[in-house]
Amino acid sequence: MTDCRLEWVPYERSFVVPLQTASGPWFERRGILLRVSDGEGREGWGEIAPVPEFGSESWTQAMVYLKESDQEALEHPEAVPAYLTATRFAIETALSSLDAPPAEFGFENTVLLPGGEASLEALHERREQGFRCYKLKLGVLEPAAELALVQALWDVLPEEAELRLDANGSFTARQLRWWLEHLEGMDRIGFIEQPLPPGHESTMQRILDEGGIPLALDESLAGVDGLQQAFEEWRWTGPMILKLSILGALDPLRRRVQGAHERLIASSVFETAIGLYQSLRIAHELGVERAVGYGTLAFFDDGWNGFKLEPQLTSTMVCPEIFREIWNQACHRWSKV
Ligand SMILES: [Mg+2]
Repeated sequence: MTDCRLEWVPYERSFVVPLQTASGPWFERRGILLRVSDGEGREGWGEIAPVPEFGSESWTQAMVYLKESDQEALEHPEAVPAYLTATRFAIETALSSLDAPPAEFGFENTVLLPGGEASLEALHERREQGFRCYKLKLGVLEPAAELALVQALWDVLPEEAELRLDANGSFTARQLRWWLEHLEGMDRIGFIEQPLPPGHESTMQRILDEGGIPLALDESLAGVDGLQQAFEEWRWTGPMILKLSILGALDPLRRRVQGAHERLIASSVFETAIGLYQSLRIAHELGVERAVGYGTLAFFDDGWNGFKLEPQLTSTMVCPEIFREIWNQACHRWSKV
């Protein structure tokens, strides 16, 4: 790697509408783009897209690390500290794409429905556009009102469609049982995502074992050890949402999920086209088959998405020219900060 060069540029992107999170509104997504080049004119792209709320390093930690150790990261990616999960993923994917042929993939995408009444109309519109996989957040309205909404959606849900429900850890075990009881027989509900908060995985596994609608882990898998715990400690048997851009080193990831590809769902974390491409490339490599959760494309309109919010996400939507364009714009903007 002696002829290789690593360059990086920080960026900020404003959400179309500030994102409401448990820790308050989120106005701007900050990340760092990486470009690796060798002496022969080849380029590899990477993106550090941290989400500390999901167990990755913060943007500031990634910046501090790169300022001090970017050359070390380039020469010895394995030396990037484990807690820098987003940085490690970005460096490794940038390096590994340097001499890899362009990836070819196609995934079905999931679309997030708005809450309340608007969800019915949105379902209809998205169906017209060809979407077959829909997601609705739970734990927003009163349970009875929310159940009525799910039932109304169910009534108009097309035969071949899948509805995913995401509770973001807002349920108690009792509430979860109440939901499962009322949703019984609704076999096109793909799963309830993260019903209980992290720390309650054995309870979720127990309830999952009883049968009925599957439960998926999302928040529980955050951080350096989440995935390892899922396999080795909790012996999780349900679907797993992988926010690939913040899962750290690739080799341990490949080893851990081996034989489990049918249960994997790849999910985005507000990346630009570069991070989206790299995470989908890895999802493809891991054998992910189910519809991916890249509905975050709707959260930006700055032209840096590359991919379009369409029922199918394909590698043909992006190309190195788009990555270069985003890179140039980021460099231009950052030079003015
Ligand atoms: Mg989720």
